[in-house]
Amino acid sequence: MAIIVHKYGGTSMGSVERITNVAKRVAKWARAGYKIVVVPSAMSGETNRLLGLANQINSNPDPRDLDMIASTGEQVSVGLLTLAIKAQGIDAIGYSGWQVPIKTDDAYTKARIESIDSERILDDLNNGKVVVITGFQGVDDKQNITTLGRGGSDTSAVAVAAAVNADECLIYTDVDGVYTTDPRVVDSAKRLDSITFEEMLEMASLGSKVLQIRSVEFAGKYKVKTRVLSSLTDPLMPLEEEMNSGTLITFEEKNNMEKAVISGIAFQRDEAKITLKSVNDTPGIAARILKPIAEHKIDVDMIIQNQSFDNKTDFTFTVPRHDLTKALAVIEEHVKPLVGVVEVTSNSKVSKVSVVGVGMRSHVGLASLMFETLAEENINIQLISTSEIKISVLIDEKYMEVAVRSLHKAFELDKN
Ligand code: ASP
Ligand code: MG
Repeated sequence: MAIIVHKYGGTSMGSVERITNVAKRVAKWARAGYKIVVVPSAMSGETNRLLGLANQINSNPDPRDLDMIASTGEQVSVGLLTLAIKAQGIDAIGYSGWQVPIKTDDAYTKARIESIDSERILDDLNNGKVVVITGFQGVDDKQNITTLGRGGSDTSAVAVAAAVNADECLIYTDVDGVYTTDPRVVDSAKRLDSITFEEMLEMASLGSKVLQIRSVEFAGKYKVKTRVLSSLTDPLMPLEEEMNSGTLITFEEKNNMEKAVISGIAFQRDEAKITLKSVNDTPGIAARILKPIAEHKIDVDMIIQNQSFDNKTDFTFTVPRHDLTKALAVIEEHVKPLVGVVEVTSNSKVSKVSVVGVGMRSHVGLASLMFETLAEENINIQLISTSEIKISVLIDEKYMEVAVRSLHKAFELDKN
């Protein structure tokens, strides 16, 4: 019988009552004959609470200690859920990441999964047990507990699904799928029945919080059939119906004339822009500016170098807003000695808005529709970047919601 991995987020695990509902749902699948592996997150708010405690003791804590602390949230969830599944009359066994083991590198608080030993899991499944495994964590070569970064349970689930060669990975969450944009910003946002893996990757990296981006990368790399669906429905709803609900991440572009050219509008509120004015336009200048930034683990997103004038050019890039102060300090200390004294300006009140769709490959005129729409709203575009399947603009943060709403309408995403 097919192996199915279920992942439940913090909200779904938020109380004893909700955990009981998860157990009922899992028991329903197990009774139907499926081999089930469950990967729960910590109960909602728990990871924040644990990290908060750590911070009260030391505002600059050792990341190894942080992982020791934060990993316990999921361990509690696994214990409680295992008990709850057994209470439904189904045999179950719980494991922490290190017991499986889920091997990671040693980058505390943002470790990457390197391998998963599927032997124990498969044995238990073959013996009729539901296997419950902690999300968000693993163990490095030296037996240190590591965590995978916030939202990492999604990645654990998809990685486990790949390791046991599961037929499907179901990500149960507090929304009922992936939407054309955030329904809190646009009430006419529509749930998508399916989205291609590439679009999902863009949506996740462009700020859609539905899935941790690394989980999408994993799904793509190992071709894990992944579905995002609601955990807040009746746990005893018919299996057939549940199996077809939510949003399926697909690997092929359907040759479907009906499919919209654009799948969604993504946005990132908290961006910041940095400009180095009149730097010398010589080979190596971009590397000299961006290498120290990268070495300080700051993610650079959009990068624009202007046409040069008298061998001088303006060099602009964006970073996450919470990294702006750090980035400016790195420029002072490490970039200026390499590029000479330049004027540096920054703006911490910018947001990025993107339209995403694989249909861009075969359609023209989408960029102009986007720019015209923004122009009609009198929104100034500060930076533009594109890929094969997305166009992003950087704008003043105060126009972000207007931009998202008007683009959603212009691209007819509010129509079925
Ligand atoms: N509990 C972790 C977090 O809050 C991991 C997860 O929920 O995916 O980030
Ligand atoms: Mg999550």
